[in-house]
Amino acid sequence: MALEVFQRLVKYYHENKISHVYLVETNNVDACLNDLKEVSKQIFCTGEYTDRCTKCNICNLVDQDFLPSLLIIEPDGSTIKKEQITDLKRKFSTVPIYTKDNIYIIKRAEAMNGASANTMLKFLEEPEDRIIGFFITSNLNNVLPTIRSRCEIIKAMYDIHELNIDSLFDEQNKNLLSIATKYLEKIEVEKSNSIMYNKEVVISQITEREDVKKLFQIILIIYEEFFKNSLNLNNKHQLFENVKFLSNISNQGLLERIKLVTTFLDDITSNVNLELLLDKFVIELSDING
Ligand SMILES: [Zn+2]
Repeated sequence: MALEVFQRLVKYYHENKISHVYLVETNNVDACLNDLKEVSKQIFCTGEYTDRCTKCNICNLVDQDFLPSLLIIEPDGSTIKKEQITDLKRKFSTVPIYTKDNIYIIKRAEAMNGASANTMLKFLEEPEDRIIGFFITSNLNNVLPTIRSRCEIIKAMYDIHELNIDSLFDEQNKNLLSIATKYLEKIEVEKSNSIMYNKEVVISQITEREDVKKLFQIILIIYEEFFKNSLNLNNKHQLFENVKFLSNISNQGLLERIKLVTTFLDDITSNVNLELLLDKFVIELSDING
């Protein structure tokens, strides 16, 4: 969870200074939703919270969207309907069982229509203790003023050049993603001449060092999704149909690959010869067992 704004929310919570409802304007709604789930985990965690807390049930339940005291509402079709808000009110009318607080997150607050906003208003006007709300929007001006005026407004702006799992499928990353899956197939399945694959698949198709870096960021994301899958954590490994063979690798094997790619990404920022770096990568990869 990189953005400071979210770390601050957790801090406010522990200092008893958190507002009861926030409107978050963001340039990446999905990343923002994920970060708010991390905020919820930090607030709820019964162990010592880490990004991948696997020790406590609460964090696991949040990851699986299964914790009753965290409700996420997304538009049903193009709008958020009155029934969705009524349902939220009903579910939060009692004190939570597993956690101290109830948290709701409304994704795309601008999709609330008059009826759902009205129902929501009554909820906002009589703020109850132990309920924290977040509205996410990509454009503050599209949120009904009646809602907007009752929220504390914060901004969560992401570096749009940073890769995340959803941006991998954008048009501008399509080519690199397809090179990444081809490369993985060569180095993980065919294996016989990995150094040649570096030339054939990478060097011959990518000229910019920055793009090689991006290629390995993509590979990192792919390994991470399969790693999460091997631990039964919430993940999107199914999106990468062309590299299904990665699910045969043990979680230890995947973890070692993640370390290897991370080291590669550190090294590529220094001025080391790119071909040497790629060769070192495939040689070390072939040393990993399982
Ligand atoms: Zn936890």
